[in-house]
Amino acid sequence: MTNHIFGRSTKGSLPVATAGDGCYLIDATGKRYLDGSGGAAVSCLGHSNAAVRAALHDQLDRVAFAHTGFFTSDPAEQLADTLVAHAPEGIERVYLVSGGSEAVEASLKLARQYFLEIGQPQRHRVIARRQSYHGNTLGALATGGNEWRRAQFAPMLVETTHISPCYEYRDRAEDESVEAYGLRVADELEAEIQRLGPDSVMAFVAEPVVGATAGAVPAVPGYLKRIREICDRHGVLLILDEVMCGMGRTGHLFACQEDGVAPDMITIAKGLGAGYQPIGALLVQGRIYDAIAKGSGFFQHGHTYMGHAMAAAAANAVLGEILNRDLLTRVREQGAKLDAKLRSSLGQHPHVGDIRGRGLFRGVELVADRTTKEPFDPARKLNARIKAEAFANGLICYPMGGTIDGQRGDHVLLAPPFIIEDSQIDDLVSILTHAIDTALAA
Ligand code: PMP
Repeated sequence: MTNHIFGRSTKGSLPVATAGDGCYLIDATGKRYLDGSGGAAVSCLGHSNAAVRAALHDQLDRVAFAHTGFFTSDPAEQLADTLVAHAPEGIERVYLVSGGSEAVEASLKLARQYFLEIGQPQRHRVIARRQSYHGNTLGALATGGNEWRRAQFAPMLVETTHISPCYEYRDRAEDESVEAYGLRVADELEAEIQRLGPDSVMAFVAEPVVGATAGAVPAVPGYLKRIREICDRHGVLLILDEVMCGMGRTGHLFACQEDGVAPDMITIAKGLGAGYQPIGALLVQGRIYDAIAKGSGFFQHGHTYMGHAMAAAAANAVLGEILNRDLLTRVREQGAKLDAKLRSSLGQHPHVGDIRGRGLFRGVELVADRTTKEPFDPARKLNARIKAEAFANGLICYPMGGTIDGQRGDHVLLAPPFIIEDSQIDDLVSILTHAIDTALAA
């Protein structure tokens, strides 16, 4: 055990983080690490942001926590209003939780209760996609399609069926247009709904830009619109998981806004608290809330820390920074520079198969052979080597051995803070290029 569980096992095996400074984390020896992935796409404002720190101090001086069974709070109300004001059409209600998995769990249970309230109790099936990650709690894990994460727990997971992801680099045929490809994979949802029986399907869950399992893979234009049409045709709820790609990461506050699609529910977390507090949220269409409000009047769910005043205060400050400093424009500009730099440094690399993403959410896919796109043998542990080499040289990036329809593949995910400077983009790409070459040479 090298991480996750604290105590004697961590001592000596991991550096101790003692300070943060903008795009850098600093350990107990004074070594500085450029945070090229925001941890796991969390630290969108970088570390030690003055506005968020001030907001937290201020809230702590007022009230830290008041249970939602008795009270609401100013920060929680303000956060819900701001999110709704900037959310896609029809989103009117916000359910505040403590992280991404909790938001996904809540979406599944709310969907189920919605169909009970509107007199369709037969709807309970969930369709999701292979090559997806929706969290580690049992409901969210069942929804995700990553075989490696699911395998050990398979007997405990509720049945969920998975269709193909929208993964142009791997799946689009050479003679197929991008548009035709998007429609073909979206139409798998129609076929799956028909196979399961349209009246039994409750929801389709997907990440607009796939994060942890594939390394910033955006859906091709037109794909999500077709998915929306199919869901509408069959009365199936569309739940978009923006835990990683939401909150400005792609250059829009919600990634699905770029696709011109309004889902029935959206889950967010990570960038919402930007690492300053643990917080997630489920955003829902007004008609879903209304059905429950006018029906039983009670959502049969809840967690002790939901709507936490400190967490909401942090999220308000984070959103204030993103919106008032126009960081969305900055994400698009710096994202284009990061993309250009990655292409100039790695675009011709014999083992880089694909460079992709949106905004400051970028992925590099490594392959043994660029022509056949064959992944590297997982026994080489390439992703772990890249991570270690980059870290040794002061860069935090997020390499993964994802699953490509049963095969393992290596990707590096990049999600730096929105405040990243040009010179830091240069440093990031040069340390990453060196780490990839060193890992390949080992
Ligand atoms: N959904 C997505 C798309 C994610 O990327 C993650 C976390 N990587 C989760 C859900 C789960 O979030 P958390 O780790 O906060 O529970």
